[in-house]
Amino acid sequence: MPSIPQNEAFPTGDALFSEQGRREFFSATGARLTDGLPVWEKRLLARDLIGALGPVIEKVLRGAGLNACLRKILSVRITRGVREYGSCNIPRANDAECRLAFSGHLFFAGNAAALVDVVAHELLHACLPHREGHGEVFHRGMALLNEALGLHIEVYSEQNAIRQSESLYRYKVVCSACGNQFYYLRAGAVVKHPSRYRCAKCGKNAFKIYRIAEAKNEKNDG
Ligand SMILES: [Zn+2]
Ligand SMILES: [Zn+2]
Repeated sequence: MPSIPQNEAFPTGDALFSEQGRREFFSATGARLTDGLPVWEKRLLARDLIGALGPVIEKVLRGAGLNACLRKILSVRITRGVREYGSCNIPRANDAECRLAFSGHLFFAGNAAALVDVVAHELLHACLPHREGHGEVFHRGMALLNEALGLHIEVYSEQNAIRQSESLYRYKVVCSACGNQFYYLRAGAVVKHPSRYRCAKCGKNAFKIYRIAEAKNEKNDG
């Protein structure tokens, strides 16, 4: 059985309304967010973030007069998804419950702010009526939480919130001038005609294309 790591207590509740409390919250999150965490530890961290943020989020929304009620969270799952950062699934049979899931690729050193924003986004869904989706009330809730808690919740999180995992991509493009590198799932324009593009980081035109051998489906890209 794995040993439970020293669990730094998160400042919770009203502490998150102060800048000092939030600094401690993010530093405690950052301290636990290291590279190569096993899934059970990612899940534990996600649960702790939910425990710290959930009641505060509900309080902010209610304080502004929104009809918000945090559902009972039945489970927290860590997925292997790269397209979906998080999800909040509300079973049809019981509107008072939900299941949350987060991409395991969100969990890497230095990504505390983005991870917290994704968790807060799903908790906002967990507080609002099933049909709300990303509607008007969701947008209002997002603005309220960003303001009250100093977050940067968005409807769609930035691409870089997820670590690009090499094994999922088929092409690796490296700028041989500055080392800047990125990955592609398909042979798009940059992969086919690298000489037409300049590096956004250093401005040079020195791309090298690598085909990632272990890619599944060895189909012809055409
Ligand atoms: Zn959403
Ligand atoms: Zn470059």
